[in-house]
Amino acid sequence: MATAGTFTKPVYTPMTAMAIPVMDHRSHGGRCHGGRSYAGGYALRSLSAKISFLILAASTCALSLPDNSPALHPRPGTGMFLLISDLHFDPYADPVILQKLGVTPTAACQAPATDAFANYGSDANYPLLKSALQHAATTAARNQFHYDYVIVTGDFLSHHFDERFQQCVAGGADAYTKFGADTVRFVDAAISEALPGVPIIAALGNNDSDKGDYIQPSDVFLKNVAEGWSRGWGKISAAERDEAVASFERTGNYAITNPAVRKNELVVLNSNLWATRDPQACGQGNPDPGGQFDWLAKVLEKVKRGGGTASLVMHIPPGVDALRAAMGRPRTLWDEGCAQELSELLGGYRGVVLQMYAGHIHRDEFRILSDPEGKPLLPIHIIPAISPVYLNNPAFEVGWYDRASGELRDYAALNLDLSKPRPAWTTEYVFTQAYGLPRADLAALKSLSATLGTGNLQAAVAKQYATYYGAGVGMFIAPGTWPDYSCAQTEIMLRDFAQCATTRANALSNP
Ligand SMILES: [Zn+2]
Repeated sequence: MATAGTFTKPVYTPMTAMAIPVMDHRSHGGRCHGGRSYAGGYALRSLSAKISFLILAASTCALSLPDNSPALHPRPGTGMFLLISDLHFDPYADPVILQKLGVTPTAACQAPATDAFANYGSDANYPLLKSALQHAATTAARNQFHYDYVIVTGDFLSHHFDERFQQCVAGGADAYTKFGADTVRFVDAAISEALPGVPIIAALGNNDSDKGDYIQPSDVFLKNVAEGWSRGWGKISAAERDEAVASFERTGNYAITNPAVRKNELVVLNSNLWATRDPQACGQGNPDPGGQFDWLAKVLEKVKRGGGTASLVMHIPPGVDALRAAMGRPRTLWDEGCAQELSELLGGYRGVVLQMYAGHIHRDEFRILSDPEGKPLLPIHIIPAISPVYLNNPAFEVGWYDRASGELRDYAALNLDLSKPRPAWTTEYVFTQAYGLPRADLAALKSLSATLGTGNLQAAVAKQYATYYGAGVGMFIAPGTWPDYSCAQTEIMLRDFAQCATTRANALSNP
């Protein structure tokens, strides 16, 4: 296995700053709508001059400008749905929101709120959350379509949620559990308010827990969240709902019929159970964390026998953490045993499981999962973040799905460029138009990853990809780290990834 030292080292390492956010209530100056500018940013140690410039350049007024975005029309045989991820909603930024959530803010968190958007380095405040959802609704109204459902791939809650609770609310463990679940449900309600009656299918993120980041939530938390979420699942039978609720309360996963495609089962996994944070997961001591593989196999067998299809929805995708690889410390997001297990399991359901939806990366990315023989099996569609905490622009997606199978056909990414003096949501790109490919399916992603993998970052298509990657912030991928990012698209296991990155780095340095 090639080691971290064998391929070109990165020249840009943003996460070194991001991994150690420190609260710093600075004001950036300037006024919007008579309010203060957003002050609740994280001070990021060792910021590059470029990032500082980005932050200073951004005036974060929440306003609506005329949108010159391309039309997003429904196409024959397709319906529309909304894809959202990593909202990381920060209720502590606004004492009024805390009161709405039934708590009394302490003196430390009484500062009046702003109507300006949260900026780079901060999680989503209410103005940002609201504007994203409003823009999703406006986009549908302008283009005369209706979302048939919403997929949310997790991380509803802001980072450092527990520390801020102690600072702003100062309650006990039970109060914290209730507050966390209530905040998840608050976000859910905000989606429903913007998109009345649209079913919401959501997955738990690693931050969505009352027990700590990456730690399985308490039974009470799961029960509270299930109670709220189950009301938004659309028209399914009482028996199906009860079964899904019971599964969620047990393990944080559930399966329900796609509200718009009866043949398509939406299988929502708790992939936090497979995260690499638990090195025992999927090993001899803990072969099937939470019994989730056993459950998934049963669900898929039932779908297959019924002649249906399935789409998997989760927070953390399998594969390599490209950013850490670019910093010379490659590791996988899932325990490799779990990734192997999934590959083997899904290998038996080729043509049944159509795709996987995930988030967690906070970037606009895709991956391809292969079967144990290395044959490409499924596209992993990764949804960019609403939260700009990792210096990306906020973004979400509008998708076209096949009405017969539920397969993702195409999608548009919509972003809010916070570096603009007056940020406004726009349509950043439509996948098929941007890449000149017929669909956003496995064949298209195989073709795109092959094109990207054989070129350097100077190629037009790679530049395009690198800009979309940060939802319009193009600084995350550098020429020297391009092999890490392009290899992460296709190589799920660390050994294959290291070989790919080494080969590509060598090819780039000896053209
Ligand atoms: Zn996240």
